[in-house]
Amino acid sequence: MTIILDGKALASKITENLKNEISQLSKKPKLAVILIGNDPASQIYVKNKNIKAQNIGFESLVISLPENSTEENILEHIYILNEDKNINGILVQLPLPEHINKQKILEAIDPIKDVDGFTSYNYGRLALGYKPYALACTPKGVMRILKEYNIEVEGKNVLIIGRSNIVGKPLSIMLQQKNATVTVAHSKTKDIKTIAKQSDIVISAIGKPKFVNKDFIKKDAIVIDVGISRTMDGICGDVDFENIKNLCSYITPVPGGVGPMTIAMLMENTFELYKYQLDLI
Ligand code: NAP
Repeated sequence: MTIILDGKALASKITENLKNEISQLSKKPKLAVILIGNDPASQIYVKNKNIKAQNIGFESLVISLPENSTEENILEHIYILNEDKNINGILVQLPLPEHINKQKILEAIDPIKDVDGFTSYNYGRLALGYKPYALACTPKGVMRILKEYNIEVEGKNVLIIGRSNIVGKPLSIMLQQKNATVTVAHSKTKDIKTIAKQSDIVISAIGKPKFVNKDFIKKDAIVIDVGISRTMDGICGDVDFENIKNLCSYITPVPGGVGPMTIAMLMENTFELYKYQLDLI
């Protein structure tokens, strides 16, 4: 029987627990989000993050800057947030306008406020096996789903399709640290299907609707769909869910799988950074 990995329910359990903990604090954690430009998807993501933060009981601040902002102007905001003792987490919504150097912007965030785990300090600590202040939210969310459903990754062959800095790459490190044997495929990989067919766990993060179909899946494989594409039929993952679900032992839906977990991990990271800053952990 196929088990649907319910990221929405797990995310709601995590945020309810956070809400209870936060209600007992006199000083609330505060998340600052910087949004640059008018990208409609980014505007929705930021709005949702802000609503979720406030529902949990965090304080939150959205700084909306125009598309033609200069690097200096954005950096100035980050430096102010870095110094502000009331701000615990800083997030710069990606993607950035083309004229902005992403590395320069993300690296300016104080690592102890780097709620996305994208600074080289936190990313480097992850790669070296040291504890970072924060782990990237989406891969952390995938790992949490696997843990919640007692899916053991040790000794398993895991294929990750997609090698981005925000999903595939950090996830490959996290899985190796749990003793999985990880293959990372990308746009230049030949014959992904054959590799997928030999894999116990297939995780796709490429943004190509229904790319992973039944030819990719061996019986009882575990399938995690990170992809989100907006199509005529609505939000769609990388996985042809309807046609492969009966082949799998576990599978995430889209929507309702990894997406809600990403936001839940962002909230968890905000609270953890708050605790680091107050020397509570
Ligand atoms: P990205 O930075 O554009 O990276 C895409 C990756 O997919 C690249 O490594 C690329 O290979 C690879 N790729 C593209 N086409 C491929 C193909 N036909 N075969 C094999 N590999 C292919 O994307 P991203 O930011 O990681 O996001 C990936 C997807 O996840 C998107 O749909 C995004 O919306 C979604 N996402 C979801 C969440 C969530 O919370 N659920 C969070 C983040 C992202 P190359 O490296 O060779 O170019």
